[in-house]
Amino acid sequence: MLKSFLSLFLQQNCPLCERITEQKICQDCLKQIHSQQFKNTAQFWSDELPLFVWGNYEGKLKQAIAALKYERHAELGEMMGQWIAQAWLKSLARKQLILIPIPIHAQKLKERGFNQAELIAKGFSQVTGYPIQPQALIRSKETKAMYSLKPKEREENLKNAFKIGKLNQSKTNVLLIDDIYTTGTTAKEAVKCLRSHHIPVIGIATLATTKQI
Ligand SMILES: [Zn+2]
Repeated sequence: MLKSFLSLFLQQNCPLCERITEQKICQDCLKQIHSQQFKNTAQFWSDELPLFVWGNYEGKLKQAIAALKYERHAELGEMMGQWIAQAWLKSLARKQLILIPIPIHAQKLKERGFNQAELIAKGFSQVTGYPIQPQALIRSKETKAMYSLKPKEREENLKNAFKIGKLNQSKTNVLLIDDIYTTGTTAKEAVKCLRSHHIPVIGIATLATTKQI
């Protein structure tokens, strides 16, 4: 009796399909999201900026990221971070790392109410135990929407977009965290800023990418 009474309160609409569910995302959507997961999440862990990425930016995974960012379903962020972390522990677990979420500009933070990368980092931290330093990088420049820009313009747009904020343990390796990896321009600019302050960055972990295998 009490259980069914409580479950009434726990029920809500799935943010992706509107069906009633007791979870953050319904079973069916969750299954479709997981069908976008890469078999080898470390396939891009090489090059100048190694990328660890959970899945393909398509279908329900794309929709889930949009729900987090644009429909402000903040509750999805930590869960997404946990998915990445579980895959990370299976393939690339390290002893000691610091997580730094890619920051958004203060104006955007005010509009959205949260930084999605920080929520994802929080979920990642819960599973791995790595500490987060969300104040380490600051987005000092309000950048234009990237999708409308050509590659050269993207670089120009993001030049010096970051500056160093508060960072403890600056000798420990950093893993950057973000929601999506597209051209990598944002990530590279963030790395440039950290490295110019002699902070070692080993790579970036994201939930999804538009990169093709
Ligand atoms: Zn659903």
